[in-house]
Amino acid sequence: MLKEILLKDTLIKYKIERRLIKHPRMEFKTGYLKLILPMGCSDFHDLLIKNQNWILKQNNLINLSKTYELNYERTELELQEYISSLINDYDKLYDLNINTISYRKMKKRWGSCDIKHNLKFNKNLKYLPSYLIEYVVFHEIIHLKEFNHNKNFYNYIKNRYPNYKQLDDELTVYWFTINIK
Ligand SMILES: [Zn+2]
Repeated sequence: MLKEILLKDTLIKYKIERRLIKHPRMEFKTGYLKLILPMGCSDFHDLLIKNQNWILKQNNLINLSKTYELNYERTELELQEYISSLINDYDKLYDLNINTISYRKMKKRWGSCDIKHNLKFNKNLKYLPSYLIEYVVFHEIIHLKEFNHNKNFYNYIKNRYPNYKQLDDELTVYWFTINIK
């Protein structure tokens, strides 16, 4: 059952889920706000108010997702070839020492990597414009040099993508376009 709250004149739908966690979290991945609360925690009104700007922004991105067009032309094989060629180029530059590259349907992200230098990419990247695929690949490549999202990491990102916040928003919109039915 979805509940509703009015934030700055916008009606926001949300759902509460309880888990064995210490701190409350919020997610928007499924197209509406999910409040994940510790067991027994019922005081979430402040949490909603405190985060209302973030919530309203996510809500805007969801509305925007209805206007985004997906690329249905690119096949999965073409996606893999494209990503391989990008990684080859970066490898010449940075000597990345990559172990494996794999593709799967991912529920929460576009890509990931681990300390053993295995890269994983979301198959749904094939629906995105090339410049966003490049951006996702670059993000994972930089993780091979800088594992955490620290200042150093963002310096690398900013250097090549001064507009990275805009690109992150576009990725969020595409996420909604693909995953909200
Ligand atoms: Zn990352």
